[in-house]
Amino acid sequence: MAQQWVAIDGPAGSGKSSVSKQAARDLNWGYLDTGAAYRALTWAHQNLTGFSLQDLANQDLAMVFDYAISVDPNNYWVRVGSVDVTDAIREAAVAEGVSQVARIPQVRAFMKQLTRAIVDECPKQGIIVEGRDITTVVLPDAQTRLLLTASEEVRLERRSAELGSANNQQVARQVSQRDASDAKVVDFMTPADGVTLIDSSNLNFAQTVAAVLETIAKATPKDH
Ligand code: C5P
Repeated sequence: MAQQWVAIDGPAGSGKSSVSKQAARDLNWGYLDTGAAYRALTWAHQNLTGFSLQDLANQDLAMVFDYAISVDPNNYWVRVGSVDVTDAIREAAVAEGVSQVARIPQVRAFMKQLTRAIVDECPKQGIIVEGRDITTVVLPDAQTRLLLTASEEVRLERRSAELGSANNQQVARQVSQRDASDAKVVDFMTPADGVTLIDSSNLNFAQTVAAVLETIAKATPKDH
């Protein structure tokens, strides 16, 4: 089981995925993208039978949703049953549908258990877990808790560069809409008590990774 837990929250385009992944590589720790599970469940909702919104609220998801994700920052993959959904969960249809799945309370309760189980199984000394409610709900007991933000302008630029899209207006609309719906469910814009804020608006990638590593180095180990 990973002993050192690092929780990183932030909005879409804050750079938290790439920054978390790089920090995990530098430390030789595990990396967990929690948004992937919400996306994979949305993919199942859109492509498999038995995952209607009603089913998601009423079924024991642990029994029906066969989910696996790699925690190796150098070899990222996501599977539902025997299907590799690594690329499929990045498609626009999933991004558009994910917020309505993520707002179902039973889904969120299941995701908390799922995430904690993956953290428990991680064979590395530490793990960096990123999402929206990791510092507050999923791992409030992590040694290091960080909120990574950036100005809206910078986030949109990063997102469109990531998607390789010239259509900035469309990207801007999508990201703002998703953040707005997500923000109704979880507050990932203001740091909770004890959470360190890193604003990366004026930091480049290497500087942001360095700021994260510095905060991790200052943390006091504690027993879980
Ligand atoms: O991080 P990513 O953009 O892949 O997350 C996809 C979606 O999953 C978010 O827009 C949000 O609806 C949901 N999510 C969440 N809580 C998390 C991680 C992701 O609600 N911890």
